[in-house]
Amino acid sequence: MSNEKIPSRSENYSEWYNQVIQRTEMADYAPVRGCMVVRPYGWALWENIQASLDKKFKASGHVNAAFPLFIPMSFLEKEKEHVEGFSPELAIVTIGGGEKLEEPLVVRPTSETIIGYMYSKWIKSYRDLPVLINQWANVVRWEMRTRMFLRTLEFYWQEGHTAHATQVEAEVETRRMLDTYAEFAYQEAAVPVIKGRKSATEKFAGAVNSYSIEAMMGDTKALQAGTSHFLGQNFAKAFNIQYLDVNNELQNCWTTSWGLSTRFIGAIIMTHGDDQGLIMPPRLAPIQVVIVPIYRNDDERAKVMPVVDQLSKQLEAFRVKVDDRTELTPGFKYNDWEMRGVPLRIEVGPKDVEKNSVMTARRDIPGRDGKTIVSQADIVSRVKQLLESIQANLLKKATDFRDSHIFEPADYEDLKRIVNEGWAYAWWCGDPVCEAKVKEDTKATTRCIPFDQPAEHGKCIVCGKDASEKTYFAKAY
Ligand SMILES: [Zn+2]
Repeated sequence: MSNEKIPSRSENYSEWYNQVIQRTEMADYAPVRGCMVVRPYGWALWENIQASLDKKFKASGHVNAAFPLFIPMSFLEKEKEHVEGFSPELAIVTIGGGEKLEEPLVVRPTSETIIGYMYSKWIKSYRDLPVLINQWANVVRWEMRTRMFLRTLEFYWQEGHTAHATQVEAEVETRRMLDTYAEFAYQEAAVPVIKGRKSATEKFAGAVNSYSIEAMMGDTKALQAGTSHFLGQNFAKAFNIQYLDVNNELQNCWTTSWGLSTRFIGAIIMTHGDDQGLIMPPRLAPIQVVIVPIYRNDDERAKVMPVVDQLSKQLEAFRVKVDDRTELTPGFKYNDWEMRGVPLRIEVGPKDVEKNSVMTARRDIPGRDGKTIVSQADIVSRVKQLLESIQANLLKKATDFRDSHIFEPADYEDLKRIVNEGWAYAWWCGDPVCEAKVKEDTKATTRCIPFDQPAEHGKCIVCGKDASEKTYFAKAY
């Protein structure tokens, strides 16, 4: 552990990101290329993300289950687009227990196929519908270029899989879960996201329509932070997910799937982090408040520690950490917890004890401006207020940053310039050829086609033909 400075974001954003993760002990590199070890501090953040989402899923009638890690290769082959999309990323087991397997097993990259297979056994009648199941799991995709949390061979996520009697119901579910993700992103993570539909090129392999929430990172790149897919009857037909309707006629189900992964941790790091390190949104922060006792000798320590203990008891409703490490100076501790992004610090020294007060320091407002003297008697209500204020400020800062980096290009040359410093919001005719040209010329892709669209039509920014929708073009993680 050291207090050595990390590179600034403007100096080297990617190195800033890697070092923040390592130095704050969020994650570490695993011995296998492209895999990561999520360390306790990173996992604690994931647990808070899980708890928050799980509550929302259950409130909307979903239940959890666990499906197997291995999927027969033949299952993936049943849905043509699905297998084509995932083939390059599959890890396949061919030997088990020393014997060559009759049929290779895929380590799940996602579970539509195996869950579809099980649903075909479980669903018989319209009375069995809808089926609303989620699983918290790890999946494997053999990625070539990896980044911690953003793209790793193995990652953690939840995948919801639902089956419905009607198209409308499945479409409503798809949009509802996208809304759930957006609500979580805004309210819990203070990450302002834009909801929209994916282009045909960018959609999930096997879906009719994919929707995503897109977030802008501190370097203005986009990050797809959650997706919800309307699968139509594609998987129902491939796996015979059928039911007898009220007239006793056999019908195919309509299915959906939706997922949010540990990638979201990357979104939190890059939305809120600054040159000092992480800034955790209070609602998800593994540690919301750190109390640092200040003393120069045993005498002072004897004065300060009982107050510290008392404060930590009073604040038991919050996630509080007392940093009583004796070998380190308070200044060192301040830097350490700032780097780890703890939203609020409470300093308690002998003078504070005499005055029945403490000093609070906000992580989101550096230096003196973020410091306030708080009376010990008011500590619970003040901490609550401060954390709420920090949460709101983080969302405001991120929203202002995002909105000041979205531009409407005047022409194609302008778009090429814009995607180097933000997102371009532009008319697009919907032709994949225009989309491919932008990607080739600039590396930017269509991120999502937002739901709110202007009433009028415009001209495609690439080809000049009539366009009915505007889309976001941006470089993305
Ligand atoms: Zn066009």
